[in-house]
Amino acid sequence: MVEPMPSAGNPAAESAGEGGPAGEAKRCGFVAILGAPNAGKSTLVNALVGAKVSIVSPKVQTTRTRVLGIAMAGAAQLILVDTPGIFAPRRRLDRAMIASAWQGAKDADLLCLIVDAARGLDDDTRRIVSALKQAGRKAILVLNKIDRVKKPSLLALADELNREAVFTDSFMISALSGDGVGDLRAYLAARLQPGPWLFPEDQLSDLPMRLLAAELVREQVFIQLRQEIPYASAVDLESWEEFDDGSAKVSASIYVERESQRGIVLGKGGARIKAIGSAARHELAELLGRPVHLMLHVKVAPDWQERPELYRALRLDFDV
Ligand code: GDP
Ligand code: MG
Repeated sequence: MVEPMPSAGNPAAESAGEGGPAGEAKRCGFVAILGAPNAGKSTLVNALVGAKVSIVSPKVQTTRTRVLGIAMAGAAQLILVDTPGIFAPRRRLDRAMIASAWQGAKDADLLCLIVDAARGLDDDTRRIVSALKQAGRKAILVLNKIDRVKKPSLLALADELNREAVFTDSFMISALSGDGVGDLRAYLAARLQPGPWLFPEDQLSDLPMRLLAAELVREQVFIQLRQEIPYASAVDLESWEEFDDGSAKVSASIYVERESQRGIVLGKGGARIKAIGSAARHELAELLGRPVHLMLHVKVAPDWQERPELYRALRLDFDV
């Protein structure tokens, strides 16, 4: 069966029409969003697309796989490459995530470096800037979270970063409130080369619905659980059944590394897993626009971080 893709109601698509306004030539290209963990990359991709296609949490390293978000702006189709954050790797999964981020950058037509303006210039951001310099790549500087900083410190940060001579332009935005996101979208659209659209204009993401459903469960694990649990867990979608009444039944497993972690994910009397399931089900039903039954299981698999098939499911390379 062909899996449903996330689509419907791309808000920016409505004004596009066939060939864009007044027969303007179509443009299309890949825009990679790079940045330190937690800079707001996924929030920005969602804001540019106008729908949640990439999961977001207050914790670092929420995004594990490369996600494409598709945004329409007039005659332009922006294919946004949300990447895992770039940071100093420790585990195999870290290395796979960082390799995936750089691959996303290598293949892109335009690069945006997003910096958390409240955090300022941290080591992770410096590392990305020097890698861009070494590769001779230019990027667009996006200072994010301007809702959290005062103007003078924002301008000082922009000055400091612009001295690096890797940025062609800078934008100041709040991906969360949407402030400045429209200007950035229009700018990116204008800089893309003429070319045919690579995705249908109502498609919002390249993630198959199964993977997006697993991601929505993982988002709740990141939001609702503390300490090491989010990093010790993975979600695998086991089955997806469609019913005549339009509803779907989805089963997924949450893998953890130890029995004690299983207890925490389940919670007292199963309360935590119930809360995770109910929040994820709500998000998934909203995205699909129809009722969803979500069954969650918690399994102990001490070696999941060493299992190639879990990397394949996340579209990551195991051997990097
Ligand atoms: P990523 O790791 O770079 O993908 O970052 P996320 O998109 O997952 O965001 C990390 C955290 O920053 C989340 O808690 C977001 O809600 C928050 N965040 C993102 N953009 C903004 C913003 O413009 N303002 C504020 N105040 N918070 C933001
Ligand atoms: Mg992210």
